[in-house]
Amino acid sequence: MDAAGPTAVATTCPYCGVGCGVLATPQPDGAVTIAGDPIHPANAGRLCSKGAALGETVDLKTRLLVPRIEGRRATWDAALSRVARAFSAAIQDHGPESVAFYVSGQLLTEDYYVANKLMKGFIGTANIDTNSRLCMASSVAGHKRAFGADTVPGTYEDLESADLLILVGSNLAWCHPVLFQRVMAAKEARPELTIIAIDPRATATTDAADLHLPLRPKSDLPLFAGLLTHLSAAGLTADEYVRDHTTGAENALSAAKPWTADKVAAETALPVSLIRRFYNLVEKTARTVTVYSQGINQSDLGSDTVNAIINTHLLTGRIGVKGAGPFSVTGQPNAMGGREVGGLANMLACHMDLENAAHRAIVQRHWDSPTVADRPGLKAVDLFDAVDDGKIKALWVMATNPADSMPEAERVDRALSKIPFLAVSDVVASNDTLRHATVALPAAAWGEKDGTVTNSERVISRQRAFLPAPNRVRPDWAIMSDVARRMGYHGFNYGAVHEIFDEYAQLSEADNQGTRDFDIGGLAGLSAADYDGLMPARWPMPRTGRPTTRFFAGGNFFTPDRRGRFIPTPYQTPTRRTGEHRLTLNTGRIRDQWHTMTRTGLAPTLALHYGEPFAEIHPDDARNNAIAPADIVSVSNEHGTILVRALVTERQRKGSIFVPIHFTDQVSANARVDKLVPGVVDPVSGQPASKFAQVSIAPAGMALYGYMVRKGQPHQPLADYFAVATLPEGTSTEFASAVLPQNPTRFAERLLGQSSLAAMEDRGRQTWSFAAIKDGRLTGAVYLATSPVAVARTAIAAHLGQPADVRAILAGRPPADRPDPGAIVCACFQVGANTIKAAIEAGADSVDAVGSALSAGTNCGSCRAEIARLIKHCHTPSETTSVDTPIHAPAH
Ligand code: SF4
Repeated sequence: MDAAGPTAVATTCPYCGVGCGVLATPQPDGAVTIAGDPIHPANAGRLCSKGAALGETVDLKTRLLVPRIEGRRATWDAALSRVARAFSAAIQDHGPESVAFYVSGQLLTEDYYVANKLMKGFIGTANIDTNSRLCMASSVAGHKRAFGADTVPGTYEDLESADLLILVGSNLAWCHPVLFQRVMAAKEARPELTIIAIDPRATATTDAADLHLPLRPKSDLPLFAGLLTHLSAAGLTADEYVRDHTTGAENALSAAKPWTADKVAAETALPVSLIRRFYNLVEKTARTVTVYSQGINQSDLGSDTVNAIINTHLLTGRIGVKGAGPFSVTGQPNAMGGREVGGLANMLACHMDLENAAHRAIVQRHWDSPTVADRPGLKAVDLFDAVDDGKIKALWVMATNPADSMPEAERVDRALSKIPFLAVSDVVASNDTLRHATVALPAAAWGEKDGTVTNSERVISRQRAFLPAPNRVRPDWAIMSDVARRMGYHGFNYGAVHEIFDEYAQLSEADNQGTRDFDIGGLAGLSAADYDGLMPARWPMPRTGRPTTRFFAGGNFFTPDRRGRFIPTPYQTPTRRTGEHRLTLNTGRIRDQWHTMTRTGLAPTLALHYGEPFAEIHPDDARNNAIAPADIVSVSNEHGTILVRALVTERQRKGSIFVPIHFTDQVSANARVDKLVPGVVDPVSGQPASKFAQVSIAPAGMALYGYMVRKGQPHQPLADYFAVATLPEGTSTEFASAVLPQNPTRFAERLLGQSSLAAMEDRGRQTWSFAAIKDGRLTGAVYLATSPVAVARTAIAAHLGQPADVRAILAGRPPADRPDPGAIVCACFQVGANTIKAAIEAGADSVDAVGSALSAGTNCGSCRAEIARLIKHCHTPSETTSVDTPIHAPAH
């Protein structure tokens, strides 16, 4: 802090691949204020709800602060030696293939670089894979097949400059909110920008689109094969480009030829008129960008579907020019950095290839290493299969939580429980993977570590420490370097993080001369001060010559003949089960949570948008399965069963359900959805098909439903079903049980940890409410019923810690002088659905008018689509909703 006050530190958001710049300002009271960085090219000052709430996630309450060996506190020396001994012994006794690292797109590039160097160059196996395998490996494979390198050809600006934006398999509004806001701003300035959203279900993104194609799950490939056929038949082939810069067009066109619009309609279950409209729009629009994400990648057809998309751009020459090209958006903050640095089991550092002897020689020379792995290691699903089979004797998991996030998560959880040695580096003291750790290593967290990350448009940004590292936590690169030295390896004597970046930048230019896309030689040799001051910069940045903003407008691909490749994409209709497991499970993110909620789950601001796990289900499927809105339902298949809340909505496609990925055993009972995802992978990329599990759904037969707010954490296990959310003054918990307690009062006392509760009972309706008061203030409340509890949750949560209006609390209503805001829609200003509806009824007839009246939607903008939907709802008959009951989905 200087005389002018605390100093803001420019860093980068640790969540999605948009890679927004953040200004973090530590305050004298220990708080951290967060603002968007106005000069960062990704966001120009914007942040979404998650980014804006980062200041609520940096306290130390849930942190791992000391190493642990077998659950007991240990010194760093003992912990690091134990890791080094375990790995050395496994290598000596069983060979290098018996050890593995499973790392993460949350790691910084420098961490990734050291992990990759240690495993591939010194241990001598490529058994290092990353959780990015689960989100974008199919894009990598598609890029490499078509371009010869994992190159993203365009930039975010292309999305704004396009005349036609196709969003396929991407809920951009929720998963990449700031990029979506940029697109929305561009559309407002230039209404002729047409947006097409291709998604089986209606989302905040499809709401904003001019055209929504609600296709059958996993039928994107024939849709794009049909587009290729249409474009060719319409004479849109860029003859010179195809002739001079590509190969394989004939084969790809021949494979796509059967896909007439009628056939595509039959396969996708879309009306043929809608398909023709889509095809005609693409035909007429030169400036077309196709944005795709997990809806494409997370499929056993992922790589082929990526190539089916790229084929349409190669055919038309719409690539590498302003406003045109295929564009993959990455899920994690440093998924791109991990790809660049070789964090995947089948890649070498700096976009070099494991199977290429010349590339291996470059890397080995640079690392001065005894070896370099010469064949791909185990990809994520195979890696955990090998753990389960006992082939992996020592595993090191860094900054990720595979017990929750891997397919067949229950089996992975069991496999981790029996591995001979498991090291886990993490920032939190408790998660579902850490419970199996032999050694737990406390890593420095987002605000405490330095390094770089790369976002979806190839912009490298600095992540800067703005808080002192607490206690004895250490950055991941330092932990790994120390273990490497203890294993007897040279080459890991880094004194500071900029030394690693320098080594990496030098490797990128070694023997390159423009033959490889990834060249940041222009950043080699930075001093510590230069590195600290490094501004966001897009690669490539060669030492000499002009940097390239976009790739491939003039060909110059990175294949041996420098030509782009059309890839034929044959397709067979996937087997859809009939009978018991007849619904298709789609998994994904919700707006205000991130991964397994170890950070966003700490932020009260983010807790009340969707505070519990749910299954979106179409009303017909709900009826056919005897499911009522807000029931607790079991979703199951041969891999397991989960319990979630039913969210009945016509926005879901018939025959499909959607369940979010975020809920773990740490905050809920039995809601880890990845239990149900089979370990089926794309044969090219190894990416799991996380959006196409077959499941059945049924009421879970709950006899008791409950809602509770209380100071502090609830006692667990509470009930057969529960989900805990963080409030400013405590927690709120949804729960349900198959058994009705004999004595509801005793039950409520046990839940609240307090006797002498104020109580109210309605025997006829079988409802009970209880309030705990201390010194005139509400310290807790419990609502029990034999059907889903209908109370004003947001108002009750806000009442916690406040002077108690006992009558209102027991009635489950807000005090008379405070209206019920309803489910939170705008996280930034904590504006609820009821408040917004009241403003609409009072005349606010546009999102901007609601913003003027309530500020809702005027900060990050993530909720604007939901506000728009509320405006529409107020003027049309409502769908089946559960606004007053649990999972009080704000604008469903
Ligand atoms: Fe972070 Fe949101 Fe920006 Fe993604 S869009 S980087 S989550 S602020």
